[in-house]
Amino acid sequence: AARAALESWTGPARTSDGTRVKILANVADGASARAAADGPVEGVGLFRTELCFLNRKDEPTVEEQTEVYAEVLDAFGTERTVVIRTLDAGSDKPIAFATHEGEENPALGVRGLRLSFGNPGLLERQLAGIAAAARQTSTDPWVMAPMVATVVEAREFAAQVHEHGLRAGVMVEIPSAALQAHKMLEHVDFLSIGTNDLTQYTMAADRMASDLAHLTDAWQPAVLALIAITAEAGKQVGKPVGVCGEAAADPSLAAALVGMGVTSLSMASAAVRSVGAQLAAVSMDMCEHAAEAALAQSDPMAARDAVRRVLGG
Ligand code: PEP
Ligand code: MG
Repeated sequence: AARAALESWTGPARTSDGTRVKILANVADGASARAAADGPVEGVGLFRTELCFLNRKDEPTVEEQTEVYAEVLDAFGTERTVVIRTLDAGSDKPIAFATHEGEENPALGVRGLRLSFGNPGLLERQLAGIAAAARQTSTDPWVMAPMVATVVEAREFAAQVHEHGLRAGVMVEIPSAALQAHKMLEHVDFLSIGTNDLTQYTMAADRMASDLAHLTDAWQPAVLALIAITAEAGKQVGKPVGVCGEAAADPSLAAALVGMGVTSLSMASAAVRSVGAQLAAVSMDMCEHAAEAALAQSDPMAARDAVRRVLGG
């Protein structure tokens, strides 16, 4: 029965008692966007723009950027929202024309939004490319920044994006951002929790280090607590808070995230049906109980078990 439910799930996602949750796709370029657009997703929650330029030596021109972004926007048309993330260059994704060379500790270095402090034109040209692509496709993309640590960064980013007439958000992937989520929301239109980096920075454990897998686990209670703080801040002001890290693709964790108040889940296309089917099988009440049960535990294993017990899986 579970298998049949999974295969027949066609979206849009809702809990068994009808609460809508947006299931969105993570995409990297036009081709992956077109593939994702064929599936039962309500849009894109994370377009990783840096992946379009991994092998570029020089910064793409505004016109070149416009073309790449328009391909992704076109794939989703006017009815489905695309969240475009500005360049997340640095650390695990070095980009020749942006990344600072020779950093001792690149994960804690000048990466993501931080790159635009020394090179403000970089962000401005990207926003110009996104705005042009939006006009060309008559779409309304949302724009968010990676690696935001302070409210001032969020405020300045939002102001710059709003000047282009676009909706602005920031990623919550540093504990400081989660703890300040309520203040960030005074300036931005939405938040998106990047659980891969949020876990790395909360646990001080390299996300690429396989021997630290017990720490780089989004089920860690400290990570769940920061997600809950962020989701609660969104609920207070009625602004969307999504999750776009790997955690969103784990069906039982996804249910707990929804119970915390997360309004959208963005994931690799392969995970969409299993998450959709899981949400369809549980009520909002069960999701809330799952969240409470997870937050009450002291280790990831206990949190997983507690949530599975609540969800009856
Ligand atoms: C994250 O950190 O969870 C995230 C979605 O961004 P990336 O994986 O691209 O760093
Ligand atoms: Mg990240």
